[in-house]
Amino acid sequence: MNILIIAAHPDDEVLGMGGTIAKHTSQHDTVSIIYMATGITGRRELSESEYEIKNIPKKIQEDWQQEIGKLRQDANKSARLLKVKNVKFFDFPDNEMDGIHLLKVVKVIEKEIKTAKPDRIYTNHYGDLNVDHKVVYNATLVACRPTNFPVKEILSFEVLSSTEWGYPYNFNPNHFINIEKYLGKKIKAMELFVNEIRKFPHPRSSENIKHVARRWGSVSGFNAAEAFELIRRLDK
Ligand SMILES: [Zn+2]
Repeated sequence: MNILIIAAHPDDEVLGMGGTIAKHTSQHDTVSIIYMATGITGRRELSESEYEIKNIPKKIQEDWQQEIGKLRQDANKSARLLKVKNVKFFDFPDNEMDGIHLLKVVKVIEKEIKTAKPDRIYTNHYGDLNVDHKVVYNATLVACRPTNFPVKEILSFEVLSSTEWGYPYNFNPNHFINIEKYLGKKIKAMELFVNEIRKFPHPRSSENIKHVARRWGSVSGFNAAEAFELIRRLDK
């Protein structure tokens, strides 16, 4: 099975489906991850928009590049732990993807779909608080128009610290994957994102990752689970 994960930011995929990734790779599925936005610049304390980036002092630009580099290193380490071989980073501006023409994002995704030929796509959820997550979701749906390469299944994962903070809460999981054997690996993979992991009660804490897996397990009759919303399935 070919799996393509279209994530807005490095760590989204681990928070939402780290256990499922480990499960897919252990079953010898081919997993590819593409990260659309940098995951860093949204935290800058500057008023300049991404379009005015050339006016930003060189020193600050260098610091961002360093932070982006570090995050990508962590993402690569985490992917290695989860045995994912194909990882690709794009440079869309963090927390500003709503300022980009959707078609630009769609074109990138279309190209990746042509290469990966996925049977199943996992992507962010439309109801998340983070604007990049919404844009990536929308662009994925456009890229997956049934007239294009017909991707049979599209599922959305939740991202802890974004999905549950998007009010009104509208993540409606109807697809659950048993990750009992992979929960430890998921937590380890998330702990590799040293600048993203937090202490409980933050949603991006090891403790909460465990709670959420148990919670979805209790919904689905497994000891630990990840939850997904099935967006579309084409049954031939
Ligand atoms: Zn994100």
